[in-house]
Amino acid sequence: MQRSVTPSRSHSLDFDNDHGRVRVAVRSRPRNAEELISDADFNDCVELYPELKRLKLKKNNWSSESYRFDEVFTETASQKRVYEVVAKPVVESVLSGYNGTVMAYGQTGTGKTYTVGKLGKDDASERGIMVRALEDIFASTTPGCDILEVSYLQLYMESIQDLLAPEKINIPINEDARTGEISLPGASVVKVQDLDHFSELLQIGEGNRHAANTKQNTESSRSHAILMVHVRRSINQKAEDATTSQENDVKSNLSGGNGIPRVRKSKLLIVDLAGSERLDKSGSDGHLLEEAKFINLSLTSLGKCINALAENSPHIPTRDSKLTRLLRDSFGGSARTSLIITIGPSGKHHAETTSTIMFGQRAMKIVNMVKLKEE
Ligand code: ADP
Repeated sequence: MQRSVTPSRSHSLDFDNDHGRVRVAVRSRPRNAEELISDADFNDCVELYPELKRLKLKKNNWSSESYRFDEVFTETASQKRVYEVVAKPVVESVLSGYNGTVMAYGQTGTGKTYTVGKLGKDDASERGIMVRALEDIFASTTPGCDILEVSYLQLYMESIQDLLAPEKINIPINEDARTGEISLPGASVVKVQDLDHFSELLQIGEGNRHAANTKQNTESSRSHAILMVHVRRSINQKAEDATTSQENDVKSNLSGGNGIPRVRKSKLLIVDLAGSERLDKSGSDGHLLEEAKFINLSLTSLGKCINALAENSPHIPTRDSKLTRLLRDSFGGSARTSLIITIGPSGKHHAETTSTIMFGQRAMKIVNMVKLKEE
């Protein structure tokens, strides 16, 4: 049973000694062919200063505002570097027994799926966060001893669909009344053998996502894709005798018979969020308008949770949407969370880019490492 723990201030797993603040990086994608022609005057709305971890957002022709992030990636940043900065610390903490989440947020077409879900079948340097995370997890776990299971889900119009078993739709969310732990009865949980097997699963998931979206007459960018990786690690005697505060924290995540710790459980969520653009702009009506309302509901409720956390509010409204209910374990406690916000370089999308940057700035204020009472 996963338990919340009271983290120590001297915890070595803090992100850069920042006491669990959500880490937020911004990534700008390269200009696409159309932008190379139409934006020939280099009408960017942002200027990036990666060495200062800052960007300047144009307010109008005369002034701009400067914002700081944990990292600023220009269009030349490699997939490897993005993974190492944004996701690797979260993966490492998951391997140590904590829950972790990596989320990509931004307007459609700015590189969320490229960053998170790219398989890189023909070119390994192109691999995205999902594949690299599993690669690292496999490298640190022992086959036959540690267990790695994945679920791959799509959240579309408040309905959870199983991407590993397409016929299963509307999977309910169960919440353990005592621990608050989230489970998804009926969702496929597949034991992963190796990286090739995982790539196959991702491909199956992508195929099902495409098929489901074709059937529903929508686009992938209208749904949230959520990969859940459950890690169960066997603990040896040395770990059981651990005495440092970090290891004592982790010991609280152990489960086993007769109170004897045997297995350490943790969960990694990698989330490719639906496009954050304002849908009224495209003149949505009928089905599209319905869809837009649901996307707005989930992203707005995510934003509300982020605001509440940033303001240190005692109430985090996670129940407002299925997205925030699923992400519940990522808010607060000892969970580690990274957010990568993606933007395009073109000045044509100034409003969307501004709103993405503001979302990221609010998330910068969240401190996950709140003191929780030990259960
Ligand atoms: P989103 O998921 O936000 O809708 P995509 O990931 O589908 O956006 O990216 C849109 C297009 O831009 C794709 O063709 C993708 O390959 C390309 N792209 C995005 N980010 C990068 C990048 N950093 N480097 C190269 N191409 C990119």
